[in-house]
Amino acid sequence: MAKQQKNAISPIRSEDYPEWYQQVVKASELAEQSQVRGCMVIKPWGYALWENIMRVLDDMFKATGVKNAYFPLFIPLSFLEKEAEHVEGFAKECAVVTHHRLEQGGEGGLVPAGKLSEPLVVRPTSETIIGDSFSKWVSSYRDLPVLINQWANVVRWEMRTRIFLRTSEFLWQEGHTVHATKEEAVARTEMMLDVYTRFAQEYLAIPVIKGAKTASERFPGAVDTLCIEAMMQDRKALQAGTSHFLGQNFAKGSGIKYQSAEEKEAYAWTTSWGVSTRLIGGVIMTHGDDDGIILPPRVASSHIVLMPIIKGPQDNERVMAYTESLARELREKDYGHRKLIVEIDSRNIGGARGWEWIKKGIPLRVEIGPRDIDENAVFVARRDKSHREKQSIKREEFVAGVTGILDEIQQALFDRALAFREKHTHRIDDKNDFYRYFTPRDQEKPEIHGGFAEAHWCGSEDCETRIKEDLKVTIRCIPFEAASPREEAGQCISCGASSPRRVIFAKAY
Ligand SMILES: [Zn+2]
Repeated sequence: MAKQQKNAISPIRSEDYPEWYQQVVKASELAEQSQVRGCMVIKPWGYALWENIMRVLDDMFKATGVKNAYFPLFIPLSFLEKEAEHVEGFAKECAVVTHHRLEQGGEGGLVPAGKLSEPLVVRPTSETIIGDSFSKWVSSYRDLPVLINQWANVVRWEMRTRIFLRTSEFLWQEGHTVHATKEEAVARTEMMLDVYTRFAQEYLAIPVIKGAKTASERFPGAVDTLCIEAMMQDRKALQAGTSHFLGQNFAKGSGIKYQSAEEKEAYAWTTSWGVSTRLIGGVIMTHGDDDGIILPPRVASSHIVLMPIIKGPQDNERVMAYTESLARELREKDYGHRKLIVEIDSRNIGGARGWEWIKKGIPLRVEIGPRDIDENAVFVARRDKSHREKQSIKREEFVAGVTGILDEIQQALFDRALAFREKHTHRIDDKNDFYRYFTPRDQEKPEIHGGFAEAHWCGSEDCETRIKEDLKVTIRCIPFEAASPREEAGQCISCGASSPRRVIFAKAY
């Protein structure tokens, strides 16, 4: 049956992209819906990917002086209220603990009892609870800067959820820093955005645009929110990471003060920055094809699967011995942050075996049969190429060149994604063109629209809101690249007033 199979995922992307996404998650065994509404079970294949993301980022953070710590899951309601915009921004999605035990109720079932004097909010983000600790840790300029990161789960109650992209509970890291001066805090905000940019592009092979959010899209309570934005294959934007300059807002709320060298007391300046398991959704929608996910080698859950082909008992011992010795040799090799991870799949289940690994997105599939062994060769297929394309390579050559092949796949994925983004990014100056660009041409496929638009914006929130209401299109960011032609005067795409520069408009996740 596998021979007639055209594609492993049904529907294919062009038929129904949202459904394709769900089917890819399922077929790859990255994760599944749990019985708890809006929460996901991350399965071993998905968690290994997350572990690699954590490992690389953790090293990158530490290289900038950041240290890890852990803070409570529960935040007293009064803490959250310390920053007015912050609590308002998160109020609609807070899970709140109000009781601390269960008792037998009238009908025999258990009911909550022991009402708490102050409700506890399950952290949606930790600025306020970490700020409380920072207010105790900081008293002198000598205590600064404080550079902390936490790997944790957070809860934001979501009514419409989508695995990895929008779930009520998700995993993330949140960095929180305290500085003596505004300049230092701004520099840290930019530095961490650079770390995210490097990580997204060099490890996830996802090209991103760096920029700042408009006031309406900022993190609640932040003075400035910087972000990286990526284009998915349905041409929508995915915010892949954010870094916030918080000014003195949270320092004032939590009382983070220090004595300067001149013995003057001043409020400190803080930042926060985070990326989450949402990145996995970004990997799926940047690189996936009609056969499933394609894992970028530098973060892949595993790199290579060896599939011995055993036609009968006479081959068994010889083929297995050859396969295991090849695995041992490959596992000695360094790749990126670690040694190569090599799977052996000796199940005798025909074509289904290869298809399973294709759907899991493993970068290299290697078949080893008696005839290959006779020639001291292996039969290699790359996940970034068609599943029909396989190549016989001498064993020694394969072992010597395998990390080079993985690098080629990594680069091919990035190049392909960048070319796609460039193809679907247009500079638009006419309002009618702009509206046409974002209006679906086919009512059957409302997800198909233009892509990213680089257009002028006068800076007014009214124009931003009008475009959002008319087209469900938002300003994804005010891009940084000052040297680009985006930094030119023009007329606002909505009202025609003068505008200092182009911004990126798109539909977004
Ligand atoms: Zn305008």
